[in-house]
Amino acid sequence: MLRAGWRLRQARHRLKCRLAPPAIILMYHRVAELTNDPHLLAVTPEHFAQQLDAIRAYGVPLRLQDLVRSLQQGEVPRRAVVVTLDDGYADNLEHAKPLLAGHGVPATVFVTAGQVGRSREFWWDELDRLLLQPRPLPPVLQLRLNGTVREWRLEGASTYTDEEYRHDRYWHIECRDDPGPRQRVFRALFDLLYLLPSATRWTILDELTAWAEAPPIARPSHRALTAEEALRLAEGDLVEIGAHTMTHPVLAALPASEQRREIRESKARLEAILGHEVVSFAYPHGSITPEAAASVGEAGFACACSSQAEAVFRKANRFQLPRVGVRDWDGDTFARWLRWWVGS
Ligand SMILES: [Zn+2]
Repeated sequence: MLRAGWRLRQARHRLKCRLAPPAIILMYHRVAELTNDPHLLAVTPEHFAQQLDAIRAYGVPLRLQDLVRSLQQGEVPRRAVVVTLDDGYADNLEHAKPLLAGHGVPATVFVTAGQVGRSREFWWDELDRLLLQPRPLPPVLQLRLNGTVREWRLEGASTYTDEEYRHDRYWHIECRDDPGPRQRVFRALFDLLYLLPSATRWTILDELTAWAEAPPIARPSHRALTAEEALRLAEGDLVEIGAHTMTHPVLAALPASEQRREIRESKARLEAILGHEVVSFAYPHGSITPEAAASVGEAGFACACSSQAEAVFRKANRFQLPRVGVRDWDGDTFARWLRWWVGS
C-alpha cells in the first residue's frame, strides 16, 4: 500500500514539475558536528558546504520573502531554492552563517523567542543530556503526572559506559529498535512531554534533572542563540530572522488564545531584540490549526512555513508554505535528491 502510494506521489510530482518547475523550501535545524543526534537535527559543516554547492549548481538560491512576493504575483521562480533553519541554535551563527556567506546563499532562521539567551537547552536536548549521555543514573525513575505516579526502570543501564555510549551513538528516534533501556526511557519521555504545556514540561524536566543529579545548565554544543548573537546573525542582508513561537509548543494542543499569544509574543520579542520588523513565521513541529494560521496573518506576518514535505507550486498558500527536511547527506546524495525535487 505504502509503496503504491509513494509511486503515485512520485509520478504526480514528476508530471507537475514538467508542467511548471517548482520552487523548494529546505528545512534545516543545526549545522554542527555532534557525537550523537537522536532527533536527526544536525548537518555537519562539511556536508552543509557540499549541499550549498549543489544548491548553486542545480537550483537558484532565493530569499523566502522574494519567493512570497513572486507567489503573490502568481509566479514561481524556476528551480528556486530557499534555505531555512529552525529553532535558533547558536551554531547557526558559528557554522551556518559563514558557509552561507561563502556560497552567497541567503537563509531565514526561525528563532524560538523564549529560548533566546536561556541557560537551559531545548527540552528535547535536555532529555538527551540527562538520559543518553554516559553518566550513572539511579535505577528507577518515578514521576508524578496528573496525580498518578509513573515509573520506569533502567534495569542494567543504570551505569552506561563511554564504550556503550559510542556503540549507541548513531541511534535516533526513528530507529525501529532501541538498543537498551536508556533509549526506551528516552523515547517514552519524549512522547510524554511532547504534548504537555510548557510549564508542566519544565516542572518534569526539573524533577528529572534532580533525579539525575545533573547541573541544570546548557551544554555549549547545544545552546540557543543569545540576543546579541541573534543580532549578529541578522547583520548584513544574508540572514533573515523569523519567529517560531515563544516556547516551541505543538500549537494544536493549545487553546486558541494561547496559540495567539505564542505567535504574537514571539514576533514582539524578536522585534525588540532586532529593532526591525519580523515578517516570517514557522509552525513548531509543523502543527497548524485554522486559528494559528489566522493569528499569523492578523499578527502581521507576511508568510508562514509548515513541515508539509512538498515543493512550492504557484497556488501555494503563503501562510502554509510546504518545506522539505534535509538530512546529513553528502553533496552527491543531496544533489540527486535536490534535482528530483526541482525537476532539473
Ligand atoms: Zn522547531
